[in-house]
Amino acid sequence: MGNSDFIFPKKIRFECINCGVCCGDTKEKNRRILMLSEETAEISVKTGIKISDFSNICLDKKPYLYEMNKKQNGKCFFLSSKNKCNIYSERPLICRFYPFELIDQSDGNHKFYYTDECPGINKGKTLNKKYFTGLFEQAKNRFQFYFMNINNRI
Ligand code: SF4
Ligand code: SF4
Repeated sequence: MGNSDFIFPKKIRFECINCGVCCGDTKEKNRRILMLSEETAEISVKTGIKISDFSNICLDKKPYLYEMNKKQNGKCFFLSSKNKCNIYSERPLICRFYPFELIDQSDGNHKFYYTDECPGINKGKTLNKKYFTGLFEQAKNRFQFYFMNINNRI
């Protein structure tokens, strides 16, 4: 990521209602939960589960190198029956970003977009710049060796 500034949606409200929609397939979407190799390594260390037991290599979404396995019901390998993430503190960056995505602009800036797919949009408090700065910093840390958009989940 180049510049350190970004544009974010003003007056957007968001609060996660733990519906689990973003953690797997929907009628409309076959969701791909993509991960960097560092992320799969961290999840494996934390859970004691082999990388190959919860993910598959994917070669068409660089710099992501892995795609999360889904259960028969189309939900993420790590989503519990109560719609809780079993690896919440180690969840991949794209999970932390959702329902937002960050896209490079032609002028070198970055812009946050969001998807109305998430029922948590327009619920809860209005998000301020601090919220997006937090996401932006996480992306910068994760992608310090990559230059790309965080836009493969939506
Ligand atoms: S779709 Fe939105 S409200 Fe539902 S679990 Fe994901 S972030 Fe939360
Ligand atoms: S890792 Fe957690 S937050 Fe991400 S899709 Fe799976 S259950 Fe959802």
